[in-house]
Parts: sequence; structure tokens; C-alpha cells
Amino acid sequence: MVSRVIPVDSFDLVIFGGTGDLAKRKILPGLYRRFVSGQMNAVSRIIGAARADLNDASFRETVAGAIAEFGDKSLQDPAKIAEFLARIHYVPVDATGTNGWAQLAGHMRGGVVRAFYFSVAPNLFGDIAQRLHDHAIATPTSRIVVEKPFGRDLASARALNAVLAQHFTEDQIYRIDHYLGKETVQNLMAVRFANILFEPIWKAQYIDHVQITVAETVGVEGRGAYYDTSGAMRDMVQNHLMQLLCLIAMEPPYHFDPSAVRDEKLKVIRALRPVLPDEIVRGQYRASDVDEDYITHSENEGSRTESYIALKVHVANWRWQGTPFYLRTGKKLRARTSEIAITFKQPPHAIFDDVTGWNENVLVIRLQPNEGMTLSVMIKEPGPGGMRLMNVPLDMSFAEALGAAANDVPEAYERLIMDVIRGNQTLFMRGDEVEAAWAWTDPIINGWEARGDKPKQYDAGSSGPEDALMLMHRDGRRWREISL
Ligand code: NAD
Repeated sequence: MVSRVIPVDSFDLVIFGGTGDLAKRKILPGLYRRFVSGQMNAVSRIIGAARADLNDASFRETVAGAIAEFGDKSLQDPAKIAEFLARIHYVPVDATGTNGWAQLAGHMRGGVVRAFYFSVAPNLFGDIAQRLHDHAIATPTSRIVVEKPFGRDLASARALNAVLAQHFTEDQIYRIDHYLGKETVQNLMAVRFANILFEPIWKAQYIDHVQITVAETVGVEGRGAYYDTSGAMRDMVQNHLMQLLCLIAMEPPYHFDPSAVRDEKLKVIRALRPVLPDEIVRGQYRASDVDEDYITHSENEGSRTESYIALKVHVANWRWQGTPFYLRTGKKLRARTSEIAITFKQPPHAIFDDVTGWNENVLVIRLQPNEGMTLSVMIKEPGPGGMRLMNVPLDMSFAEALGAAANDVPEAYERLIMDVIRGNQTLFMRGDEVEAAWAWTDPIINGWEARGDKPKQYDAGSSGPEDALMLMHRDGRRWREISL
């Protein structure tokens, strides 16, 4: 199977923060892949704009270094890289001053899509938006891409939305959540809404519970000071896990278009019931033979910031009444894995005597590693000896099923950037969605801060705190193993 690459229109993409970590690790190597695939044409340009005093030649060296270090090892073709680098430019710009803006304005061309990627700290968003406006660099059809974190609570998210709204309309603003750019996440929508099979049983009547896990093996070392002001709830749940929850829980949109999809996601967020204190387990990793503790990494003795959180969440509407969503995410866990597991209820009546063990149907959507889906079903154990049952996975690994085409699946960032150029906002968060997510998150955080809750300890390299196990045990359920 060959994947279809549909080229996008010619564009000028300005990356504010083009010399930063995110640009080097994700954005620039991703754009190179799109260039190699033919999706980005040879007329389009990428213009780095940052504080460093570089020029086209020295920035091209930076980009070449980023492709060598973080790019696809199979795409290190010197001729292609040289062709790509010829599309790269650089303008030194001071986001908060006057330096560079006139030069940037002089650099822009007519007749191509103009996009501006704000890959800088959010406190610069307003300054950049203002200057793009003042120097007439942004046009009414230009697009801006903004990175997370989008606020740290409802008030700051509202303030950010208001700052951007001064110069850009909502249909020009692309708030990135790279989880939405993952192939499997979009497949979740395809599986739900392009098949008759699942949708009729996609409800509390048939689904016992849903587990969403995003487990990381890395800790906060290197960015501990920043992370300590955030924590797992703000850093992961309010955005990434919330978006996954929305895609599972939402009603079918009338059409796969940005407004319809985002309207349905918003309804889910608004339907979330406040979470009770005993439905939350926060954790912080402690030293083990795997690594040092969070306190050392965050350099904040006495920190109460959570590096792990598990929550039991209820979507209070007709479809989901009685089906809890268990969410968990953490750092320094046993394995790096992200998955959504939908556990169906048991058949209403058992006709076989031999249902001794686990006999649930579970649909597992793996985001990483090895993106794919598994549906576990009960079958008869092969061989003689009567009617014994066993639970086996029907496995669909995309890499296997799609063969060569799977190798050209764009990574999240590059797919999302191509969507920006196409002007398709379906996989981006709308301003009201982000605010609604904070409106749900704020009282939870305020609650544990007011109570003075301390996070529970868990060993670095483990599956998280013991109390998180209890969160499910109490309900007669158990977490899936965190393993590769
Ligand atoms: P970084 O510190 O590595 O880079 C910051 C960039 O901003 C640099 O290019 C710097 O020159 C530029 N910059 C800073 N002040 C400036 C000014 N006054 N004028 C012009 N340019 C200025 O940061 P990063 O890790 O690349 O993160 C960028 C944004 O992306 C942040 O909002 C961050 O939260 C978000 N983000 C980063 C990652 C990641 O993996 N690094 C992941 C998700 C979100």
C-alpha cells in the first residue's frame, strides 16, 4: 500500500523561537520529512525568527544539525537536505523590542499562505501578535500556531485568548495539542464513525469503564524548575488526556469539519462532573535503584507538585451515566507507553461453565509505542478436552497492516503544520474548549491546594503510587500493566 501525499499550497512559515529546543527536535526535522515526501513544495520557505544573532547561512547549519540529530535516519540524503536548506532563511527578531521587525516585514511575499509558529514562551505571544499587526506582517488570512502551555488556569487562558483576539480571529488561531496529530488518535475517530460495528455499543450499557494512560520513563531532570510550577494535572491532564477523553466520549459530529468536531468535544468537557477528593491520587517519585527523587530533580525541597496523577472522571450525560473514565499519567514510570483501553461489560448470561478468568472484551488503542489497536475476544481454547475458553487479542499493528505506507505516516507535529497550511482546524483546540478544560481543572487543583494535600510517594521506575491501585480496586477493577 502506498500512502497518498497531497501537496499543500506554497507557504511562508515563520518560526518564532526557530533556534529553540522544540523547533530543533520536532518542527524542523518534521518539515524536512514533509519536503522529502513532496508535500512541501520547492517554492515554500521557512523563516527562523529568534533572538540569536544568526543569518541564513548559520541558521541553515543549525537546521542541518537538527536534521542529523533528530531527523529520520533513513532520510539523511545530502542532496535533499541541501535542497531543503535552500528554502530556509533567518531574521533576528526581538519579540519585546523593535529589532528585526521591519526586516521581517520586508522578507514576506504575496501569493503564498502566511503562517507564524509561536514556538516561544507564552508570555511573548501578546508582544509578537502586536508586532505582526503593527508592521502589517500578518494579513487577514494569515494563521498563527501557538504552543502549550495555554495558560495555567482559567484566568490566564482567558487572558491569552483575549490577547490573541486583539489581532487575530478564532479561525486564524491554531492551538496545538500534538496528541491530536497522532495517527492513532485520528484512527479512533475513523473506527468510531466510519464503522457500524462499534458505535451501537459505545455507551454505558455496554462499556464497563475506560482507562487512559500516558506513562513516561523520563523524569523532570533538566526542566525541574519549570515543571515544579506546573505538575501532571496542568502539564498533561488538562490538555492531552482531556483531548483523548473527548474523542472517546463525544457524540458523532454531523460532519467531519472543525466546528462540528470541536462543538462535540466542548459538550463533553462541559459535561464533566467535578472530581471528588477521594477520586484523585497524586504522586511524586522517590529515589530507587532506577533514579534519584523528584525533589532532587526539581531542586525544591518540600515541593508538593505531582509528577503522577490518577483520576476517576465521570461524563455526566445520557451516554456515559455509570461508566467511569480512569485517567493516569506520570513521570519516571516503568515504561513509556500511551494507550486508551475500553473495557466492555461481560455478556449478560454465561452459558459456558469454564469462564474462570478474565473474559472481558477490551479494545486497546495504542498511541505509543507501536501505534495500533487490539481487540481482545474470547475464543475456544484449541484442542480436545471440552469447551474451555481463552481470551486472545485480535491485533492490528498499523506498521504490519499498512506495510510501506506506515513508514510515511507523518509524525504529529508535521501533520499538524500541514493542516495549518491547508487551513484545517479540526485537530486544533478552540479557545472555548481550552477555557472549558481549565474551568473543570481549576477547582480540582484549588481543592488539593486548600486541603494542603501532599502527593503520595512512588519508586522511580515503578507503576505509580499504591493508592492509585486502590482507586480502581475499590470499584472491583484493576489498572492495566504499564509495560511495553
Ligand atoms: P527554548 O527555550 O528552547 O527556545 C525558546 C526560543 O524562543 C529560542 O529560539 C529563543 O531565541 C526564542 N526567544 C526567547 N525570547 C525571545 C525574544 N524576546 N525575542 C525573540 N525570540 C525569543 O524553548 P522550547 O523548548 O523550544 O519551547 C518553545 C515553546 O514550546 C514553549 O512555549 C514551550 O512551552 C513549548 N513546548 C515545548 C516543548 C519541547 O519539547 N521543547 C514541548 C511542548 C511545548
